Parts: sequence; structure tokens; C-alpha cells
Amino acid sequence: MEITRRLTDTVQAGPVSMGGRHPIVVQSMTNTRTEDAAATLAQIRRLAECGCEIARVAVPHLEAANSLAAIVKGSPIPVVADIHFDHRLALAALEAGVHKLRINPGNIGSAARVAEVVNAARQRGVPIRIGVNAGSLGRELLRKYGHPTPEALVESALSHVRILQDLDFHAIVISLKASDIPLTVAAYRQLAEQVPYPLHLGITEAGTAYAGTVTSAIGIGALLLDGIGATIRVSLTAPPEEEVRAGFAILKALGLRRRGPRFISCPSCGRTAVDLIGLANDIETALGGLPDPVVIAVMGCEVNGPGEAAEADIGLACGQKASLLFQKGKVVKKLANANLAEAFVAEVHAFLAARRLEESRP
Ligand code: SF4
Repeated sequence: MEITRRLTDTVQAGPVSMGGRHPIVVQSMTNTRTEDAAATLAQIRRLAECGCEIARVAVPHLEAANSLAAIVKGSPIPVVADIHFDHRLALAALEAGVHKLRINPGNIGSAARVAEVVNAARQRGVPIRIGVNAGSLGRELLRKYGHPTPEALVESALSHVRILQDLDFHAIVISLKASDIPLTVAAYRQLAEQVPYPLHLGITEAGTAYAGTVTSAIGIGALLLDGIGATIRVSLTAPPEEEVRAGFAILKALGLRRRGPRFISCPSCGRTAVDLIGLANDIETALGGLPDPVVIAVMGCEVNGPGEAAEADIGLACGQKASLLFQKGKVVKKLANANLAEAFVAEVHAFLAARRLEESRP
């Protein structure tokens, strides 16, 4: 069953489109010092290799802003400058050619400064992401609502939106982040009813790789199931490449993106004759980095495996002495159980090479 996505405006970050009917974009943020352009670029390249489509970099001071031109020039994917308060940094980032700004117009200062930044963004065709965070809501809103509520987050976002709209600027993306899942989900749901702009989804301070992925999958997943969201960032206390893998895993689980393999494996049971956990992990490690969209199954028995994983493009059903290689539920070959992971990985590579050849034919 397909998810029906809410239609929003489309916003362009360089060549990457967010919103409308465009695929949901996976992004991440570097954790290098931005003033170290070489280290930041190396990390952006690693992120791009994992499929990351937009990279955000922190720009806390002028030294960081000064290395943006080199980063933008060398980056294989659009670069977003993350700026708080200082309009001079925003202007420097735009001058350096960044593809998107993350800045809250209500926090820049005087109306003249806001207009200067917004006009510079407009001239360069650069969108602005408004990022409201439950941890940094204004004092007035906290007094009005008592604590961060969905209404407070939405009101904060709309106040920034109004500033941009008053300047006739509409290339807007919005995020509303909190570490509390019900709060975040409720806030995004309310906001989605009120604005036509693409929404950037994330659960902030989600935690380390395992806990953070679970938390993000629940929060981001709930919103994606509602058809909400144009771009996602899974925030993890982990190398940012993990954020990209988690982002695609969430989208693939919902059938919203098809980059790279999607793995299916059974939980194993009393019928399983091999070390299925070790085997599935070895196969996932060997094939997880492939860019090809392919569904790969690793099943614990010959009797039920091919049928239970009939949706897989290619799969393995393990038997006592030998195992069955199957494609779309049909057995095509037997593989010896000795060196099974290596043999199956070779079969997947051969299957993908044949498919690529087939697809390249006119
Ligand atoms: Fe058990 Fe076979 Fe189902 Fe795996 S595929 S859970 S081994 S019955």
C-alpha cells in the first residue's frame, strides 16, 4: 500500500528539489570544524558516497564562513549553512555560494538586517530553512504556554514565516524539533495544516546510534505515514554516515525511497539449521553499501523461506547441508553451505550486473 503524500510547494537547494512530488531528501550535518575545509569536504564526500543528498555545516564564526567557498566548490552535494543570530555570517555564506541557509529571521536583529539577508538569498535563488527547536523557544511563548507545547512550536515557526512572507519571500522550508516524540509529531501535524511549505523532519537529541535510530524511526515514521515531510535528518550521536544509513532505512521501510539494498531476514526458529544471525550480518555488511535498489532475503529454512520472502528480488533459504538460491519466490540454484555468505554475495553481484546490463539496453 502506498503512502499518499501531502502536496507542498517545491523548494530548490542547488540541483536538489524538496517538496512537491519529489523524492524525500536525506540529509545530514558534518561534525568537523567548518574552518577546516579539507576535513569538512572529506566528510561530505563520505556522506555523499552513502547517498546523502544535502550536507549542512555549522557556521558559528567568521573563520568558518571563510572556508565555505572552498567547501561549496569541492562538495558533490548542496551545502547548507547553519547560522544563528549573526546576519553578517548569513551574508558571507550567501556570498560563498551556499545552496541553502538555516537561519531564523526573527533572531537576526533589525528589520533592515533581515531584509538584507532575505534579499541576498532571493538574488541567489537560495531557500531559507526556519528551524524551531523546543529547547530555544522565546521567553514570551514560554510565558504564554508554560512549557514547549505543539501550539508554542507552531506559533514560533509561523512568526518567522510571517517575516519572510512580508518580504515576499516564499522559498521556505520549516522544521520543528524536540526530543519528545508526541510533542514533535503533534507540532508537525498542526503546522502541515497551515503552511504550503516543505517540511524538514527530525527528532532532535535522539541519542546514540541504536536508541536514536529507534526514536527517529518512530517520530519521523509517524509523520511520513501521514504523508508529511519533504526532507529528513536523523540526528544521532554517531558518525554522520550512520544518520544517512538510518534515514534511508526509514524511507525504504515505508517504500518511499529505493536507494540501496533492503534486507529481509526471518527471525529463525526451531527449523533453522545454520547460524542465521551471523550469516545475515555478514551478508548485510558485504552488500549494505551498494547503491542498487534491490530486496535481498536471508531465510532460515528451505521449506518456508522462499515463500515467506517472495517479494525479494534475490534470496537465500538455508537447508541442513545445502541452501537454495531463489529469485521472486522461485528456486533457481543450490549453494553448498561451506562459505555460504561469500557464495551468496557473489550471486547477488552477478544478479545486479546482469540487471544493470539489461537496463542499459535501448
Ligand atoms: Fe522458521 Fe523458516 Fe520462517 Fe525462518 S523462514 S522463521 S526458519 S519457518
